[in-house]
Amino acid sequence: MIAKVIVDSPARETDRPFDYAVPDKLAPLVRPGVRVGVPFGPRVLQGFVLGVAASSEMAPSKLKPLKSVLDAAPVVTEELLELAGWLSRKYVCPQYTALAALLPSALKTKTEKIYAATPAAAAAADERGLPEGLRELVAYVSKRGRVPEKTLLAAFADRADALAEAIRLGWIEESRHVKDRLGAKTQLCAAPAAPAVRLREAADALRRRAPKQAELLERLAAVADGEGEAPSLAELARDAGIGPSAVKALEAKGLVAVETREVGRDPYADRRFAASRPLPLTETQAAALEPIRRAIEARTYEPFLLHGVTGSGKTEVYLQAMQACLEAGREAILLVPEISLTPQTVNAFKGRFGDQVAVMHSRLSAGERYDEWRKIAGRRVKIAIGARSAIFAPFSDIGLIIMDEEHESSYKQEESPKYHARDVALERGARHGAAVVLGSATPSLETYLDAHRGVYTLLEMPERVEGRPLPSVAVVDMRQELRDGNRSMFSARLREALAERLERGEQSVLLLNRRGYSTFVMCRSCGYAAQCPHCDITLTYHRAGKHSRCHYCGYTERETTNCPSCESEHIRHFGAGTQRVEEELAKLFPGIRTIRMDVDTTSHKGAHEQLLAEFRERKADVLLGTQMVAKGLDFPFVTLVGVISADTVLRLADFRAAERTFQLLTQVAGRAGRHTLPGEVVVQTYTPEHYSIQFAAGHDYRGFARRELLSRRELGYPPYRKLALATLSHEDISRLVPAGERFAGELKRRLAALRSAGAEEPELLGPVPSPIPKLKDRYRFQCMVKYRGETDVAEALRASADALADDARKSKLSIQLDMDPQMLL
Ligand code: ADP
Ligand code: ZN
Ligand code: ZN
Repeated sequence: MIAKVIVDSPARETDRPFDYAVPDKLAPLVRPGVRVGVPFGPRVLQGFVLGVAASSEMAPSKLKPLKSVLDAAPVVTEELLELAGWLSRKYVCPQYTALAALLPSALKTKTEKIYAATPAAAAAADERGLPEGLRELVAYVSKRGRVPEKTLLAAFADRADALAEAIRLGWIEESRHVKDRLGAKTQLCAAPAAPAVRLREAADALRRRAPKQAELLERLAAVADGEGEAPSLAELARDAGIGPSAVKALEAKGLVAVETREVGRDPYADRRFAASRPLPLTETQAAALEPIRRAIEARTYEPFLLHGVTGSGKTEVYLQAMQACLEAGREAILLVPEISLTPQTVNAFKGRFGDQVAVMHSRLSAGERYDEWRKIAGRRVKIAIGARSAIFAPFSDIGLIIMDEEHESSYKQEESPKYHARDVALERGARHGAAVVLGSATPSLETYLDAHRGVYTLLEMPERVEGRPLPSVAVVDMRQELRDGNRSMFSARLREALAERLERGEQSVLLLNRRGYSTFVMCRSCGYAAQCPHCDITLTYHRAGKHSRCHYCGYTERETTNCPSCESEHIRHFGAGTQRVEEELAKLFPGIRTIRMDVDTTSHKGAHEQLLAEFRERKADVLLGTQMVAKGLDFPFVTLVGVISADTVLRLADFRAAERTFQLLTQVAGRAGRHTLPGEVVVQTYTPEHYSIQFAAGHDYRGFARRELLSRRELGYPPYRKLALATLSHEDISRLVPAGERFAGELKRRLAALRSAGAEEPELLGPVPSPIPKLKDRYRFQCMVKYRGETDVAEALRASADALADDARKSKLSIQLDMDPQMLL
């Protein structure tokens, strides 16, 4: 037997399947989607089995044998193997990189494998005509409860076939003991090492002589039956008076296993969710749900745009569409931006669907994420909720994919594979015959235009539920405030509005845009501004730690009292960080209770959730924060939203700046007055006349879209043209310049060839220095291609990069390709 293997090697010419001979004793384990260890040159590398074949085109003498099989069951389904191929072609990345992106990180680190018998294993004992090896193996594992791989292999050397068969029959389960790196706390706990019956027998025998041991065995028997979890040694000693000697004695008898466990694994395990019932839908909601339900039931692929204003009740439509999906016996994925993976979102879905939901959170530890992933892979849940990468949930019959806030830029992955989750959702939806619902109050212009061209079915919910009004928006001109002598960061209007809220006991949300509005250090005498020595970026001042930091590479510099350039003492920090807003609030309103939410206050696990819970319980008057406060939150007593400055996003050198500003303002305004109390929004700006601010103030998405699309068409930007970006970088600028010229030459030639093949010739811009010309000590040049969708620009870029591959290897030139750049940095 031959295995076709994609190997973990970065070189372009090795980005293809290699043939390996499969030794007979490994043959039962080798299937598409398992990972293997293979000899590659002088090393042993990891690889994915793409397929197996009876014979190879290579001479048998040249075939090397596989070294090892890393998974007893495939970790990548056949559909996802194909999807990885698609990812690699579309986003121009190595196949191995695409495959690795499908797996939770825990599977990529060294982990100990553990085998356990499932409840179904009891059947193995009664089954007639079982091969002897299989029966023995299942009996061995059943008797011991949980067996580490090493032990099992020692006892059953050469019986890989029996193990594979037992796993296939569902009698034995493979799992991994994941050690979390990021300082996750661990504790020792006592786990059952034998099946429940044996533990109970032993407990009976010990009851008289050693009642504490018996008590522990009873408890562990219950754990073995699936009730509760293995108790920690600390807890046993403290609460039950069962000391370490009792545990030791039972461990020696092979009844108890002492294991390390991460503290706080499964963050939702002991949380109770308020059960929620379907609400009677409004007419608009019902009309939106109906076609989605039909597509799910008909098993036909259909993409939708659910365009509903903030507060129009999209969540209830998602919930009931999911219900319909479960009733049709199919599986569902809900994608949300990382930032709105708040307890609120999770609660809504856990509350309705309970144990059928797995949640993939970046705040989970690697081990917790792996646990959630296993629930999906093991078909123990029907719904996966998560950010971007949850789109790779290994389901087999997806009936519904929902992408909430589909316009969010966090759906684009900025490392290789540089995929956009929206494109993957549509691709997977088509493969499964699923309904794909893109939902937003402010759809991206790409999605909006496609909906109008009929590519997506358009579902509209133009009003808030129960006829609640959208909040009134006041735009305040901060230049005028300055002329009127107000030097504070609060306009008179916002100050009054805040005072009213305090008086009435209502709550306010204040948004401070993080980007560009952070503080920086500047010398008033000579104009010196602290820059990162590795990147062409101004350092951001962090008041708490009294240091300045580069947000790209992490370089840190301590605060100085004198200017490093002219030694003047007039060196100051400028701008308004959240901390400064907080201080000024306290000065204006003595006694005001503020919750500040930014990278500094939410860095530790659970902090985000805790701050929101406190705000919900009305322990604060003001929630002050960065973009984190703009998304998806729903608090009944929030009646005022203030935007400290709307301009900062506009100043970014990005053709999407106006769109991002419009989206941010609309989203944050949507936080106000979502319940019975009416809402008010105050937007402070230095450019009140800008159309993105004007349309956002008027709640006029269509008006904005019309205006913005016009200018995109004129300038040849998406959605009318597609963009591809190649970024070349090198430590030495004198090597980079000629490389950039050569790359552009190669690319130009290939793009011209596309024209002669009948397509419209793509436009090539560059090579020019990147907007950030130096990053992490490397100089950067870029080439941008604007083209129409049908053209094969990916291939032209790939080939041009290949043409420089020799250079790249010899001189450490790096070429990064991005087929759908979102951040033009
Ligand atoms: P969106 O996600 O569109 O911004 P939500 O789904 O958060 O809006 O809904 C806004 C509010 O309306 C929520 O408080 C929700 O409970 C309520 N709501 C939604 N659908 C209904 C309904 N059919 N009947 C009554 N209230 C509803
Ligand atoms: Zn830097
Ligand atoms: Zn100076």
